[in-house]
Amino acid sequence: MPVFVCRNCFRPAELEFQIACEANQIPYRPLAIRESLRLLRDFYRERQAASPDDPRVAGVLADIERRLSIGAVERAPKLDA
Ligand SMILES: [Zn+2]
Repeated sequence: MPVFVCRNCFRPAELEFQIACEANQIPYRPLAIRESLRLLRDFYRERQAASPDDPRVAGVLADIERRLSIGAVERAPKLDA
């Protein structure tokens, strides 16, 4: 079952998860970005079906779709960073 956390909580949550996995000898493998985005899209599609008039849900969903559509481009290294 996927667990979603916000960006602010991601690092501490990931660390906790890694420590818990190590303590229980469970191999830890982070999801690929695109796989995570697809799960997130499914999550927000369900939210949208539940509340179709919520503009926040529509906005987040549009952002996820955009990131999925340019995922291949984003993987290229940024030389001007
Ligand atoms: Zn949070």
